[in-house]
Amino acid sequence: MSELMQAVSYLPGVGPKTQAGLADLGITTIYDLLYYFPKRYDDLIIKSVQTAQDQEKLVLEGLVASRPLLKRLGYKKSLLVVRLIVENEAIPVTFFNQPWLQDRFVEGQVALLYGRWSQTKRSLTGMKVLSQREQTGMTEVYQTKKRLSQKNLRKLITAAWQKYQQQIEDPVPVNIRTKYHLLTARQMIAGMHFPQDEAQAQAARRTAKFQELFLYQARLIQLRLSSDQQAPGLVENYSSDYVAQFIQSFPFQLTSAQSRVLKEILADLRRPQPMARLLQGDVGSGKTAVAASAIFASVTAGFQAALMVPTEILARQHYQKLLRLYQPFQMKVALLTGDLTPKEHRELVAQIEQGSVNIVVGTHALFQKGVTYRQLGLVVIDEQHRFGVKQRRALRQKGTVPDTLMMTATPIPRTLAITAYGELDLSTIDELPQGRQPVSTYWLRWSKLDQVEHFLRLQLAQKAQAFVIAPLVSESEQLDLANAEEIQQKLQKHFTQAQVGLVHGQMNSTAKEEVMAAFQAHELDILVATTVVEVGVDVPNATVMVICNAERFGLSQLHQLRGRIGRGQQTATCILLADPKNETALQRLKIMTETNDGFRLAQQDLQLRGAGDFFGQNQSGLPQFKVADPVADTAMLTTARQEARALFTVDPQLNRYPVLRAYLKMKAQTSLD
Ligand code: ADP
Ligand code: MG
Repeated sequence: MSELMQAVSYLPGVGPKTQAGLADLGITTIYDLLYYFPKRYDDLIIKSVQTAQDQEKLVLEGLVASRPLLKRLGYKKSLLVVRLIVENEAIPVTFFNQPWLQDRFVEGQVALLYGRWSQTKRSLTGMKVLSQREQTGMTEVYQTKKRLSQKNLRKLITAAWQKYQQQIEDPVPVNIRTKYHLLTARQMIAGMHFPQDEAQAQAARRTAKFQELFLYQARLIQLRLSSDQQAPGLVENYSSDYVAQFIQSFPFQLTSAQSRVLKEILADLRRPQPMARLLQGDVGSGKTAVAASAIFASVTAGFQAALMVPTEILARQHYQKLLRLYQPFQMKVALLTGDLTPKEHRELVAQIEQGSVNIVVGTHALFQKGVTYRQLGLVVIDEQHRFGVKQRRALRQKGTVPDTLMMTATPIPRTLAITAYGELDLSTIDELPQGRQPVSTYWLRWSKLDQVEHFLRLQLAQKAQAFVIAPLVSESEQLDLANAEEIQQKLQKHFTQAQVGLVHGQMNSTAKEEVMAAFQAHELDILVATTVVEVGVDVPNATVMVICNAERFGLSQLHQLRGRIGRGQQTATCILLADPKNETALQRLKIMTETNDGFRLAQQDLQLRGAGDFFGQNQSGLPQFKVADPVADTAMLTTARQEARALFTVDPQLNRYPVLRAYLKMKAQTSLD
């Protein structure tokens, strides 16, 4: 193992330049090099044009029948056509943008060409010219960057393999390997880089995937174990009687899903290990009531609790809700946001430090320097996906480890949650309170705009309020804003009786809050918003939402937006205005009209978009897997997790698994994401 950890410069012929080229690919050690797998394989097999399948990639062998014809199509673009006589048939072969190949063809000579066969045109789109000496068979194709060629990389991998193959050890224990018919690590690496045939490549790939998933899960488990040990958590001996009283004070009964997850959370509070739990539930499923009860419990045990939310509007709204809830129980709630005066801030911080405040609500200001808690027992993070992975971890590392409850309304299919939040326990509210009116959703093309206006008019006449979501134009907030302003002006002209407001991301928080407050107080009838329309903001009288260019939004995002309406007793309507340009976009709109089930939507979204897009790149905390795909390889992921867990249960120190232990130790220095 240790020899594999040497820098790539230990390989003969690797100077600073090659080293830099390798670094571009994330390769710094011999180990990295051996584990840098091909992105695909080309099977260089000579085929007959009699049996070739349409679109098949193959090698044709034939005589060059004419001088190649080169057409320049502008800067960097060109077309090279050459005729090849294959089995008495003249086959045209076209190469795109490889003008230099012109010199490789000599009339009357034999050529071996690799490319994609078109059955209908009986022609080949050329990809490679093979030299006569070149062996045909499987060839690996690596992802490379400018500073290092395919050829050089392959040479280095071969050199590393020849010199170090004996050092390759198996991090996956032998019993697991046999149980699932996996290759050894050495066989796997050989099969990934130098497969003899398709079957060997596939077997190697399967093992590589398993190993990757297994090691990832092992890292997660170890991370969790070590954080449990390093920082002992708090035992919060809350009062069950008080908590029962608190729940009694709600104007409703908890749903059975709410009761179940609350039980899970309360059990965590009493345990000495720090809680690290993700609570997921669809918009409106009543997460706040659950969180409020947990906070209440923690306070009855003599601790402080903090509720962190992503925006100031939300902080204020939650603060007001909690104020009402806790008042009868003489608990002191405070709001800590960025817009306190220095004096107010100082005073509040002092109260938090003395412990005269029991519950603090706020944005990330809650955990800035200078804010010290007397006895912080529980931290609740709402809309946790809006906080970065780093922020979430930083927070948990403040002093003695408080219990942490994270909440999200973006339901994550269980399998993916295991990957993304594997170090967290998961609680799910999978039921909405009774009597909730599902939002009726319709999709209309822009040509039906008249009907939408007519509908809006009818609704406004009945004193309803409406959101109009401006289209997402591009990454640029500027353009979105221009659009939103235009929509507001147009609507105001059309609906002379109504008050039309505007809220967008470039307003400062006070301005945003004023507009939201005006909408909440029904001083505004229509609120035009860019997508920043704050998650979680409650306006029960808003029963209509029109989303412009809905095809540009992801399903989960549409569902979130739609969750802003249908929060009162009235039926609510969501209209998706969209001219979808492709099948996927069309599918998405249809699914939206068919279901209100956030989990179903999330699953569909995943299938349509893939995991990376689903979370949005930087917020995801999703690991970048090299070979495995957490969505497609779900079953394997689950197996790998079970096996990793079992192993740690029996042997938490990994005394019997020195290779795995060494691997985890090495990885402990690098970040998980
Ligand atoms: P979430 O945060 O999960 O989106 P909230 O906690 O804001 O949902 O709850 C949405 C609304 O439903 C709130 O007005 C809340 O008072 C109400 N609510 C919560 N739980 C129940 C329940 N069990 N029965 C009826 N209404 C409930
Ligand atoms: Mg909420």
